[in-house]
Amino acid sequence: MNKNRYHSLNAFFRNTFGEKVYKVSIAGGFTCPTRDGSKGTEGCVFCNPEGSEPKHYKPGMTVTQQLELATEYVRERHETDNFLAYFQDYTTTYKDVKSLEIMYREALNFPGIRGLSLCTRPDSISDDVMDLLKDLSQETFVWVELGVQSSCDLTLLRMNRGHTVYDSEKAFEKLHNRGIRTAAHVILGFPGESKQETLATAEFVNKSGTAGVKLQNLHIIKNTKLAELHKNNEFDLISRSEYAELAADFIQRIRPEVVIQRVTGEAPPRMLVAPEWAINKLAVMNRVRRELMYRDSWQGKDLGYTMEDIPFIQKSSIL
Ligand code: SF4
Repeated sequence: MNKNRYHSLNAFFRNTFGEKVYKVSIAGGFTCPTRDGSKGTEGCVFCNPEGSEPKHYKPGMTVTQQLELATEYVRERHETDNFLAYFQDYTTTYKDVKSLEIMYREALNFPGIRGLSLCTRPDSISDDVMDLLKDLSQETFVWVELGVQSSCDLTLLRMNRGHTVYDSEKAFEKLHNRGIRTAAHVILGFPGESKQETLATAEFVNKSGTAGVKLQNLHIIKNTKLAELHKNNEFDLISRSEYAELAADFIQRIRPEVVIQRVTGEAPPRMLVAPEWAINKLAVMNRVRRELMYRDSWQGKDLGYTMEDIPFIQKSSIL
């Protein structure tokens, strides 16, 4: 029996690569359109980009230097030589295509790297970059994570995202037409967003045809606009139980083949303002798993799927 009751990233990696693969975070010195002035300078309301910088990163480090540090730790801890290079700072497709190709290939040439995982915005992948990702996808494993966040335009506006739901739709369409594997990053618990609106994002994820979804509970990080609003008591945060219920409702509405890459996010404790419960990621994950178990529910149940429709860990099937 799958204790997760959903299609986990671990199951996906084992079924795809025949063994466990570890994501190692690296930074490429990127920026994003809501910070560099092209769409604004203040960034998204919830974002302090320091929060997504890899621990070992110092400005000026090359991709290889970062991978040496990041893989050494994981290699020793898990006795593995299987990694995905995860570019995660700001918008990791937001550079000219030549610089990106050099950077991505530097990562792919590092020993033990089995592929790329790229974190980006739906409005920040040019056609040239999409074509590069298409070529890379034919050579190796590539997974592009789009920061969809919500399928409610009003929420995106309130969060100062600087893109629309239509931008997400188009980005998925263009990436999928090129055969590029994608995932949707979604935040649950936005102020002013109703439960119905949040669950409509699950429907959007299904319709988009994406291969993965990454859930995150709304965190309040120091030095953000959201932290100011929170200080002025302008909205309430959901509790851990409410989050677990919402995440379970969401997962029940997601098609079983979609990989649930993550059921909750994590913020560095030194940067977290609230909610306090978000510090313990494992406890939140377990609470979501238990919620599904108590309900005797699973991924896709609301769409009529059974537990057997969820791809659990199979015997090795290599990419
Ligand atoms: S969430 Fe992403 S797009 Fe928004 S400000 Fe932060 S780095 Fe930029």
